[in-house]
Amino acid sequence: MSSHAPVIWWIRRDFRLADNPALTAAVNSGAPVLPVYILDAQEAALGAAPQFRLGLGLDHFARELEKAGSRLILRRGTALAVLRDLIKETGAGAVHWSRLYDPQAIARDTDVKKQLQEQGVAAKSHGGRLLFEPWTVETKTGGMYKVFTPFWKSVRVRDVDSLLPAPGKLPAPDAWPAGEDLASWNMGAAMRRGAEVVARYCRVGEAAAQARLDEFLEDKVSAYKDRRDFPGQDATSGLSENLAWGEISPHRLWHQGRAAMEHNSQGAETFLKEVVWREFAYHLMFHSPHILTDSWRQEWQDFPWSQEVTPQVQAWRRGQTGYGFVDAAMRELYVTGKMHNRARMIVASFLTKHLMAHWKIGMDWFADTLVDWDPASNAMGWQWVAGSGPDAAPFFRVFNPSGQLDKFDPDGAYTRRWIAEGQGNPTQTALDFYAAAPLSWNLSPDMARAEAVVSLQAGRDRALTAYHESRETG
Ligand SMILES: Cc1cc2nc3c(=O)[nH]c(=O)nc-3n(C[C@H](O)[C@H](O)[C@H](O)COP(=O)(O)OP(=O)(O)OC[C@H]3O[C@@H](n4cnc5c(N)ncnc54)[C@H](O)[C@@H]3O)c2cc1C
Repeated sequence: MSSHAPVIWWIRRDFRLADNPALTAAVNSGAPVLPVYILDAQEAALGAAPQFRLGLGLDHFARELEKAGSRLILRRGTALAVLRDLIKETGAGAVHWSRLYDPQAIARDTDVKKQLQEQGVAAKSHGGRLLFEPWTVETKTGGMYKVFTPFWKSVRVRDVDSLLPAPGKLPAPDAWPAGEDLASWNMGAAMRRGAEVVARYCRVGEAAAQARLDEFLEDKVSAYKDRRDFPGQDATSGLSENLAWGEISPHRLWHQGRAAMEHNSQGAETFLKEVVWREFAYHLMFHSPHILTDSWRQEWQDFPWSQEVTPQVQAWRRGQTGYGFVDAAMRELYVTGKMHNRARMIVASFLTKHLMAHWKIGMDWFADTLVDWDPASNAMGWQWVAGSGPDAAPFFRVFNPSGQLDKFDPDGAYTRRWIAEGQGNPTQTALDFYAAAPLSWNLSPDMARAEAVVSLQAGRDRALTAYHESRETG
């Protein structure tokens, strides 16, 4: 125990003790550290699955903090008001936090910093979520990058901050301010799906993330380049949910990935390149935040995508389109809260092209159902597939879900894992879908496979006709 005024460590999506610059700065100040999480309007507005996963992360991290001799204080309210209350109650002289980069968080944090500094409190934001702060990467002419390859070339040779050790024990304040009980926040309230099923598929916490990274780099990275597109194989890191909640730093992926390049140069380099796609997404969101809300390319604003949640879109959401790749992927999403990257591309193409539904319908569904939801990667991914984003796939590249299945799931491992219908002895994962799906969907594994909601040829023709017409009139 110490008699100094504490410093507040305002925890946001950075649930880790190691390699956390905000925490290191708080500890290095020499003052007792008060870890605080604030459920403000922005965090409370998260989709159902991100909010549920946030609850799992908070619960786990609170226990980790206790092991380090500390506590997690939970409060609800406007961030500035809560921080001011805590400063008043404890006499804290400084607040440290890790930066977030979406426009709402930037606006909130800029205001918090200004107001606290005006009242004489040291308010300091830190990096840690990204390898490269978005404003430090620019083209030769001083602009933002709009294409990935030159972005990659410009950052791959840059130095990345070294890893910071976890503090052994966190210096505790003399007295702890009151906090709320996590259970009273009911973080799973909006799930309306088998939350306990989804929880089984989550990998929560810093130690689990680190163990998975080690395992991936030891056993899997050498085959990553060749196998990463096969959703039936355990060939990717699966670390997106941990990155989303800051349970591991991208710096750790970078440094350990660089070390792995000594033995597995191609696989490890491809992996690092993927990690840098995440950086690119943040670069785009920071410099052109309209990527979150509007077609990034102005000329796509009036493209005749439907804004309606039609029965076909409902079928897409429920994994009932009649197409194996799409249905397996949407069920994987519903059960695990994650989806393989190739599958994300297939379902996004099917929705925005074969069904001609607006990419925002898909982006919003992902924002509500993914436990690894990330505002930047989600928006970039949807606009990349839809063709409306920077460096996007051309709209006329319409994935054929059946051809893609033959190519990327040749032995049927992925569909068997997620589709029970037609299997004499369905896998547990496929059956889990029925435990995760809401009862109101009226689904059972004994049902016949859904009929195709659209013919692939007709859907493709309709999309390409709309595309050509829009180019002529645009
Ligand atoms: C339509 C669509 C929506 C997406 N929404 C999200 C999202 O909400 N959250 C999210 O984290 N990713 C999203 N992605 C990107 C990608 O699908 C996931 O990051 C990836 O599937 C995570 O699996 P992994 O951790 O095993 O990746 P690995 O292959 O092991 O890659 C390592 C890390 O690199 C990053 N990464 C890999 N591919 C991409 C990519 N294409 N774009 C950005 N970062 C990437 C991720 O942080 C990932 O964890 C989306 C992609 C598409 C096409």
